[in-house]
Amino acid sequence: MAVEQTLSIIKPDGIQKNLIGEIVSRFENAGLEVVAARMMHLSKEQAQEFYVVHKERPFFDDLIKYMTSGPVFVQALQGDDAVARNREIMGATDPSDADPGTIRADHAASIEENVVHGSDAAETAAVEIAFFFADNGVCPRTR
Ligand code: ATP
Ligand code: MG
Repeated sequence: MAVEQTLSIIKPDGIQKNLIGEIVSRFENAGLEVVAARMMHLSKEQAQEFYVVHKERPFFDDLIKYMTSGPVFVQALQGDDAVARNREIMGATDPSDADPGTIRADHAASIEENVVHGSDAAETAAVEIAFFFADNGVCPRTR
């Protein structure tokens, strides 16, 4: 197993539901370590750039409205197979398809308002971590 880093976002609905600690606990209990964290309110331009891969999708405008509707909590997580592990813990995009006990099965309201984001591959994780934590924002675990 390779040690990886991945990007996690607790989306505006997750913040509204006061789930920061609940969600971070799931990551920590699964052996993932937080190596960077910040709370912020995305601008429209930031959200459009972050989700640019979806810009031709019919749900893009709604996705941008949703992601800018309130603050988000952004983290870089580190651990064995962190990219896949994070996505297992999140569950499927549509909560009705998400495995029981996953974040989305337990907390997501819909395929859009689905509480969390997680990088989908190591390559995208590197780009996404740099997007939010460019200037030495990732803090190595020295103990
Ligand atoms: P994320 O990228 O946020 O981790 P994901 O990788 O599970 O989620 P994507 O296909 O990348 O899913 O979609 C990005 C986000 O766009 C979803 O998390 C959801 O908020 C929204 N979304 C995806 N599909 C739909 C849809 N059919 N209708 C409305 N919103 C959608
Ligand atoms: Mg995605």
